[in-house]
Amino acid sequence: MIGVFREHDRLGRRLVLILRGLPCAYGKCTFCPFALEQTLHTSRILGDNKKIIEKAIAIAMREGYRRIAVFNGGSFHELPYLVIEQLKPLAKNKIFEIEERSEYVTYDSVTALYDYYGPEKLIIRVGFEVYDEEIREEKLRKGMPNSELYRVSRLRETLRSKGYDVEIWTYLLFGIELIPEDKVEESLYKFRELFDGVIAVRYKKYNPGHPEPVPVSRKLARLLEKYADLVDWGGEQWIIAGKEGSAPG
Ligand code: SF4
Repeated sequence: MIGVFREHDRLGRRLVLILRGLPCAYGKCTFCPFALEQTLHTSRILGDNKKIIEKAIAIAMREGYRRIAVFNGGSFHELPYLVIEQLKPLAKNKIFEIEERSEYVTYDSVTALYDYYGPEKLIIRVGFEVYDEEIREEKLRKGMPNSELYRVSRLRETLRSKGYDVEIWTYLLFGIELIPEDKVEESLYKFRELFDGVIAVRYKKYNPGHPEPVPVSRKLARLLEKYADLVDWGGEQWIIAGKEGSAPG
């Protein structure tokens, strides 16, 4: 659901902007629902996002938000550049959080964005989803092999050694038939070693052709709540295009 949302959870008090994006240029992941909210109509993208950003700037100033997250159901670098420019007041001197596919996360792209925005800290979320490369590449069709996973993980050190306050977090997908629970568990531990933060996201099925959701054991739920930085069990703002996904009870 696009819009501005006030969040107060384990990550602290945050303002979350969910923007309208262009269709993801990669667009091949087998579980991805984001096309439902995306459009090829640039005027709609620019119009909707301008309203969201103006509203967010007013709220952030009035209510003193220090942490801002911007999501567009794809990669931040695929937003029209006008939108990226309009976001500048929300990023300057703030903890600013975005999401990207790994191929957009390079030393030059990150430092250019950082230098342009001047944030207190830049957090980039990348959806590696599962540590097991075969599941990620063959079943989820993420198109982000382990060579990318380790490259992005190492990039954190390079950026920090040059004085850039950048953190790279990853999403971890669970509750989907394609990822057995032991592989979710393995991912949780590996991702904690390789990245600065882990956000576990429970799968919801929006498209009849997509994989099935599966129940989540109490053991896994407890583990995720204990070791992930945030567990997204599915809040109102994460409902895509006003459709309830089918999640197990
Ligand atoms: S990279 Fe993200 S937005 Fe693109 S198809 Fe995969 S899950 Fe969807």
